[in-house]
Amino acid sequence: MAKIFCVANQKGGVGKTTSTVNLAAGLAKIGQRVLMVDLDPQGNATMGSGVDKRQLEFTVYDVLIESASVAEAKVHSATCGYDVLGANRELAGAEVELVQLERREKRLKTALAAVDADYDFMLIDCPPSLSMLTLNGLCAAHGVIVPMQCEYFALEGLTDLVNTIKQVHANLNKDLQIIGLLRVMFDPRITLQQQVSEQLKGHFADKVFNTVIPRNVRLAEAPSYGLPGVVFDPQAKGSQAFVEFAEEMVQRIKTM
Ligand code: ADP
Ligand code: MG
Repeated sequence: MAKIFCVANQKGGVGKTTSTVNLAAGLAKIGQRVLMVDLDPQGNATMGSGVDKRQLEFTVYDVLIESASVAEAKVHSATCGYDVLGANRELAGAEVELVQLERREKRLKTALAAVDADYDFMLIDCPPSLSMLTLNGLCAAHGVIVPMQCEYFALEGLTDLVNTIKQVHANLNKDLQIIGLLRVMFDPRITLQQQVSEQLKGHFADKVFNTVIPRNVRLAEAPSYGLPGVVFDPQAKGSQAFVEFAEEMVQRIKTM
């Protein structure tokens, strides 16, 4: 059975997409079968996996409105070693269209169930909002991975997300839990970041992943080559950290 994780944080630019594609690549590298689902109309995770969002016959949009199955819509990224259920701007329309449809929050869950046996992990890159798209991600998932920068307002921003996850857990998806907070873009030279990191551990204890993703320019350069950093420059500190994170996730799911 595949384990399904949403990478979510309602803030933009916190490292969701970078975390999704690099975790996918890291998991693939250590032999896991991975489906990466892009739920953001920006399609950055699609492009960042070496898949041209403008060339797709079907996207996750078609899956949500049930005009294609996941098996039909997914493409394989040979360079990255995982499958991609891509997105492009068309997905922005789904937000409005879904409202009128039945089982509107559970469409992704239903669709992914059909390919469950084909994967060890499914990773969902969520848009920076708590929208119907994110709700579909949260309903489909066993857990949420929350990437966060160790900045002053980091904890404050978490409250909305934690409340949403609690509500989804109570009303729509009993399986859902926060798997962990992933510290990203970490710079140990900045005292404030160390302090916030300690605060996070104090507050969330074992819900904070052991792996820390450093700020690393190679991770930021990789998308312009249409690749995750893990594939673009495997030796880079940031890439090595994501492979380490993949190993931590494999261990983590054994205890779920
Ligand atoms: P989100 O999906 O949450 O909007 P992104 O993953 O697109 O965030 O990241 C925002 C920006 O930060 C991008 O330009 C990305 O390349 C950069 N970035 C993300 N993680 C790192 C990192 N560990 N080191 C350096 N730059 C990073
Ligand atoms: Mg993103």
